[in-house]
Amino acid sequence: MSTTGLQLIANKPTYRRLPEVFYARVDPTPVSAPELLALNRPLARQLGLDADALTDPEAVAVLAGNRSPVGSEPLALAYAGHQFGAFVPKLGDGRAVLLGEIMGRDGARRDVQLKGAGKTPYSRRGDGRAPLGPVVREYLAGEAMAGLGIPTTRALAAVTTGETVFRPHPEPGAVLVRVASSHIRIGTFEYAAQRGEGAVRLLADYVISRHAPDLADAGHPYRALLDHIATLTAELVASWMLVGFIHGVMNTDNISVAGETIDYGPFAFMDRYHPRTVFSSIDTGGRYAFNQQPRIAAWNLARLAETMLPLLGDRQDDAVSAAESSLERFADRFQTRYDAGLGQKIGLSEQRAGDAELAAALLAEMARAGADYTLAFRRLSNLSHEPSPADDGFRALFDSAPELEAWLSSWRERLGAETRRDDERRAAMRAVNPAFVLRTHLADGAATAAARGDRKPMDDLLAVLSDPFSDHPELGDYGRPPAPNEAITRTFCGT
Ligand code: AMP
Ligand code: MG
Repeated sequence: MSTTGLQLIANKPTYRRLPEVFYARVDPTPVSAPELLALNRPLARQLGLDADALTDPEAVAVLAGNRSPVGSEPLALAYAGHQFGAFVPKLGDGRAVLLGEIMGRDGARRDVQLKGAGKTPYSRRGDGRAPLGPVVREYLAGEAMAGLGIPTTRALAAVTTGETVFRPHPEPGAVLVRVASSHIRIGTFEYAAQRGEGAVRLLADYVISRHAPDLADAGHPYRALLDHIATLTAELVASWMLVGFIHGVMNTDNISVAGETIDYGPFAFMDRYHPRTVFSSIDTGGRYAFNQQPRIAAWNLARLAETMLPLLGDRQDDAVSAAESSLERFADRFQTRYDAGLGQKIGLSEQRAGDAELAAALLAEMARAGADYTLAFRRLSNLSHEPSPADDGFRALFDSAPELEAWLSSWRERLGAETRRDDERRAAMRAVNPAFVLRTHLADGAATAAARGDRKPMDDLLAVLSDPFSDHPELGDYGRPPAPNEAITRTFCGT
């Protein structure tokens, strides 16, 4: 066992420094026939684990939850949350068990959690299990985000259980071995707040020590913490908006205070662009539509700020104005990041007046024509500053319209004011406009194939998603938008 390195996570998680109301001690429930479906070798290396040894049956037994490493004390974490705006005081890990924490080679501490590991005290009516399809989708999503350079939880492995889950039809069961900077959510603060100021303070102190130890020396550590989380969240949501990502279920219990994308359920990368796009089958009101995400992130941060009010100032009005200033920081940071990112996507190296309008005009044209979000920016990256035959590949994504021609002319005029060489501009655009994102029909196709034992689509996708800014001509099909008969417009929670 020691050779697998899994002993490294057989520890008492630092999370246990928190009072017992924050978690429940629970062991994973064994499964009948665990088999390793996928192992994330690059991530294993980053964590300092021996990837080959992780394929041993003994290690696979640990990854499936059949065997806890000696000395490990697995936990299910308690949290609350606002789900679609309504407060639920007690949620918690209903189908996930924190196996332990591990220090990576980079010196960062991470949680290793088994998702789908059986019932916990927080399971309510759920079975504690996960079907293979959503496990494969979450595995791919984490790798897609990591490849794009967007903070995310990632899968170290996926294991099939040999058991059946009913959703409501029978599906093969699986366990996702999820690695996260931590699993502390805004909902964890909402849970603590119900237990009073002391509990919130303990949690805030733990978050500072774990995620931002420098803040302990700030003039006002708790205000600094709220600012810090607001900043990370702004950067995260801006990066989502710049790749056409829709989280789909931005409930406060699905928002990490470490600024990572977490809980891939009904998420999607848009194919055809429209700002109001919704994929989630349960999001009938469009609360979590693509263009609502910055507003919802601010709403979620306001819920976080409310839990922290007693820590933000002795006087109520001081505390409230500190909270407001963090929310303003969120709005400023989001807008700055988003505007700068859009400018880069259209090839501008310096920011000038009118740039935001120029980018907005392209998005408006894309929305009108239903152009593919990813391909529109990728193909724009190949256009030169003079009209050329390459223009046609870009035009083909739109129905021909005078507005598009007018936009191309203004864009080229604006490029004329750039000091950068045109080939450098194209290379810089290709470095921010991916050729590959995890399109929903591809994720579903890979999940279906994996369920019948065919790993090739998943492996092919992982190859392009780990390096999404290169063209990969031999796997170019994975960059293609869905044909009308392949398009999927609804996604589902993993429950
Ligand atoms: P999610 O929609 O995945 O964010 O889950 C919302 C809540 O439901 C969390 O507390 C989960 O732990 C819980 N949950 C989801 N699926 C299950 C399941 N199959 N069994 C038990 N709890 C679940
Ligand atoms: Mg969740």
